[in-house]
Amino acid sequence: MAINFYEWSISQPTAFWAEQAQLIEWQQAPQQILDFSHPPFTRWFVGGTTNLCHNAVDRWLPTQAQQPALIYVSTETGQEQTYSFADLYAEVNRWAALLLQHGVEQGDRVLLYMPMIPQAAFAMLACARIGAIHSVVFGGFAAISLASRIDDAQPKLIISADAGSRAGKVVAYAPMLNEALQHAQHQPQAVLWVNRGLAELPLKPGRDVDAQAALALLRHAQVPVVWLESNQPSYILYTSGTTGKPKGVQRDVGGYAVALAASMRYIFDGRAGETFFSTSDIGWVVGHSYIIYGPLLAGMATIMYEGLPINPDPGIWWRLVEKYQVTGMFSAPTAIRVLKKQDEHWLKQAKLSSLRALFLAGEPLDEPTAHWIRDALGVPIVDNYWQTETGWPILTIPRALPNDIPKPTRLGSPGFPVYGFNVQLLDERTGEPVTRNQKGVLAIQPPLPPGCLSTVWGDDARFVKTYFSSVPGKHVYSTFDWGIQDDEGYTFILGRTDDVINVAGHRLGTREIEESLSSHPSVAEVAVIGVQNELKGEVACAFVILRTALPESIAAQALEVELKKVVEKQLGAVARPERIYFVTALPKTRSGKLLRRSLKALCEGRDPGDLTTIEDPTALAQIQRALGQA
Ligand code: ATP
Ligand code: MG
Repeated sequence: MAINFYEWSISQPTAFWAEQAQLIEWQQAPQQILDFSHPPFTRWFVGGTTNLCHNAVDRWLPTQAQQPALIYVSTETGQEQTYSFADLYAEVNRWAALLLQHGVEQGDRVLLYMPMIPQAAFAMLACARIGAIHSVVFGGFAAISLASRIDDAQPKLIISADAGSRAGKVVAYAPMLNEALQHAQHQPQAVLWVNRGLAELPLKPGRDVDAQAALALLRHAQVPVVWLESNQPSYILYTSGTTGKPKGVQRDVGGYAVALAASMRYIFDGRAGETFFSTSDIGWVVGHSYIIYGPLLAGMATIMYEGLPINPDPGIWWRLVEKYQVTGMFSAPTAIRVLKKQDEHWLKQAKLSSLRALFLAGEPLDEPTAHWIRDALGVPIVDNYWQTETGWPILTIPRALPNDIPKPTRLGSPGFPVYGFNVQLLDERTGEPVTRNQKGVLAIQPPLPPGCLSTVWGDDARFVKTYFSSVPGKHVYSTFDWGIQDDEGYTFILGRTDDVINVAGHRLGTREIEESLSSHPSVAEVAVIGVQNELKGEVACAFVILRTALPESIAAQALEVELKKVVEKQLGAVARPERIYFVTALPKTRSGKLLRRSLKALCEGRDPGDLTTIEDPTALAQIQRALGQA
């Protein structure tokens, strides 16, 4: 091949993706690889018919029916169970029959509000099997967030469970779902309940169904897959809601299957018969792409884990890696920071020789965390940058491209644009590409590659307006993240475009200031936000979590002065935070992302806004105390 993989994907997308399409099985081959006649809407593999469940499950029966497909581990309930591809096939067929029994048809929405239990995976795959559109809502969301998603997706059926469990604390789902349904305009025809025996589960006659009892009558059910045109919707998934109202990402069937199969091979170096362990939750995009669909499409076993990384002790994940001979693991920096607070010996007790790489995504991977985990595990740490919208990585260093040796990683950078993504860094005012070492909005020149969102569910206008209208004069997809490329082309993410602080006309990325503060040995974690200031427009304020409690000998004030000096020396006086507050927790979303908008609002004396996605409300109370508001 004369040109490299990336160049080929950008210059000849049709030929490139036609070849990748062969990674999955089609009932009917695509007639047209790419239809971009109504930009920015992109249709991949037009006329081809396929099915995600077929490719994830049925496809592997002839060659590896008895090999593990789904390995379920709950350190909350002590359950540990391996389902072979044959077992998974049987379970999914039973669930598909149950959905059909309740009148679910192709195109109907089924909303899942479930903890990390195998039935959630069965139900997702069952939806895919019959062409129903699943909408998985993270089980940690409370009634109001759930209600707004019910109204948006309008599900015919809801599937839930009696309870989730977190650090041994049972969280009953029924009260939450019942309350959500009181708030929601839309009502489902039925609610199917999986009873784990963790919480009381009173069933409402006429609406509620005991799923296990119904499934027991469908023991040998077989439901043929429904072959779907490639561009039919497979699922709806809401973005994390870090910056505001979540957007309902609508995904297709064929493009997603091809994109994931290709990513498993080229980016994650996953091979059929091996085991993948992604520590995310099915309520997030990583859960959809790399707990459920990706590994199974690649013929791999996938570990579905319910529990914390430090329960029963901080060695648990690594023992699982050894026990199930995990070859690829996927987690988030936030989880690694939790482990980093524990003793390192926990990571050293298990034999990790099967593990070839640890992939991390979801938020910036700070250098100290990256160093720590790399040294502790002794395997490559692979940062990858993407969004719910794209479904798979935009920037990373793929592990197994054809005829390629992975480039060395550079800490702090996820790497390079991934094949398929025509990434550009654009000047936000002129829309022109910036030069090397200049900060720009990270944009993608359409057509978006397969696997990305087809539209915003039920709102084509919002899709166009939100994503394709923000860079002046250009119809490009904006990620709303800042990026910068160094001389060798490594791209660094500098934070979100709305996280930029404008101090007396200087535009500063909050991430730069955070990195600077993090370089001080006393700092464990830090959040920087811009706060309105009459004189300077905006000033930076920092909230710092210290590695250990402040020694009595050092006053907070003295450390504040010292930290300000660090920033001043590294970035200049304009970047120096106006105030630094010391706290022990930061407000984050349930997926571990910092809720800057709430921090900013509090600092400016405003209401913190929509807090339904917050992980720990006490973090906010602490901030208020620090600000002297409580
Ligand atoms: P919303 O769009 O509703 O505000 P969100 O953007 O947090 O929520 P996600 O799609 O879960 O929802 O997160 C994607 C964002 O996470 C990216 O746009 C980027 O800001 C951040 N991100 C993801 N991976 C990385 C990474 N490896 N490095 C830096 N930032 C990352
Ligand atoms: Mg986003």
